[in-house]
Amino acid sequence: MVVRRVVCPGSFDPVTNGHLDIISRASRLYDEVVVMVSINLAKKSLFSVEERLDMIREVTRDLGNVKVDSFRGLTVDYCKQHDIPVIVRGLRAVTDYDYELQIAQMNNRMSGVETLFMATSPEYAFLSSSLMKEVVRWGGDASGLVPELVHERLIERLKDA
Ligand code: ADP
Repeated sequence: MVVRRVVCPGSFDPVTNGHLDIISRASRLYDEVVVMVSINLAKKSLFSVEERLDMIREVTRDLGNVKVDSFRGLTVDYCKQHDIPVIVRGLRAVTDYDYELQIAQMNNRMSGVETLFMATSPEYAFLSSSLMKEVVRWGGDASGLVPELVHERLIERLKDA
């Protein structure tokens, strides 16, 4: 049997309900979904790679076919190493489009790996990890927008920031 496997790459700093929406919908379409935290040393992050992996692992526990991994390098190299032909990315708005299209075309040219875009559910269309950090930093209510465990860790991490 051919295992149909996809990767959902991203920073996930931290994982939000918008990410989870895409991950869970992809998990219904494919045999296996690998959520890959890309390690970008140039990008300042609030949570370490291990902390991000741990949160994703916790909140996807009920999805039996979701795996979690991290990688430093090009997503297409990860795909090649793990025999994954498809990248799934969420599209929120037109503002995501130019950037995402450019990366998808470059990835395809480099490797033949395909990118499939999944339309974000409207209730999460305005959500981003950076917005959630900003809201929680100033005491705003993020419940319902990030998993409860992530909300708690955000409050804890940002309380003295
Ligand atoms: P990156 O730094 O690569 O943009 P992110 O962690 O911000 O990584 O996003 C990872 C993936 O999740 C991307 O495909 C992004 O479009 C998608 N995504 C981010 N926020 C949302 C959201 N609110 N709804 C759906 N998809 C989202």
